[in-house]
Formats: sequence, C-alpha cells, structure tokens
Amino acid sequence: MPFTGSCHCGAIAYSVDEDTPAKAMECNCSICRRRGALHHFTTAEKFTLNTPRDALLTYRWNKQAIRYHFCRTCGCAPFAEGDSPNGPMVEINLRCVDEIDLDAVEVERFDGAHLVPGPQ
Ligand SMILES: [Zn+2]
Repeated sequence: MPFTGSCHCGAIAYSVDEDTPAKAMECNCSICRRRGALHHFTTAEKFTLNTPRDALLTYRWNKQAIRYHFCRTCGCAPFAEGDSPNGPMVEINLRCVDEIDLDAVEVERFDGAHLVPGPQ
C-alpha cells in the first residue's frame, strides 16, 4: 500500500508506491545531522509529488549531486533527489511521513561524517 508524506504546512505532499518502511538510515554527516532526517531511499518511478514544484526551495553543496529540497513556507525538508548509477533516486525523510510509528522504525546509523568531506 502506498504511503504519503508532507511538509508541515502541506505545500509539499507526495506519495510513494511501496509499503511504509520499517527501517531507516540516520547519517551523522554535516548536513544530515543538521536536517535531522531519518532516511529512506526509493526510486523516482515510485515517487509522485502531488503539489507544485514552485513550493520547493533547493540547497546543493559539495559535489552538487543531491538536491536537498525544503518548503519555502514552513522550512521542512520532506525529501531530496539525486542521481545514482542505477538512475534517479529520491530520499524520503521518514519524519515527514504521515502515518508512521517512528519509535517502531529500526534505525541504522551511517558514519557519513568520515566519508563525506565538507564543513563539520
Ligand atoms: Zn510547508
């Protein structure tokens, strides 16, 4: 069953054509720890943005490879987009998913701080 997510004000809303994830990845790199995201990764084919793209502001850094979107109204960052060798990928911030028990999500920690160069 697809799951849905949104920013706080609702200007950004999406659906993902897969079951609500039971696992997440948390990264300690300089941007992930500031965004506070619990990551789930999916493919562009499974992702549908249900709101206009002009609600998004986008931040890029380092190799500019990932487009870190956030809401121009409420500032929440419910997803990001990037390109992988396997094609376009979408990062879902599980903290912005509508129906999810975050306490039940198994969190795997990723030591990005020692793999991703940049400001700490
Ligand atoms: Zn918003």
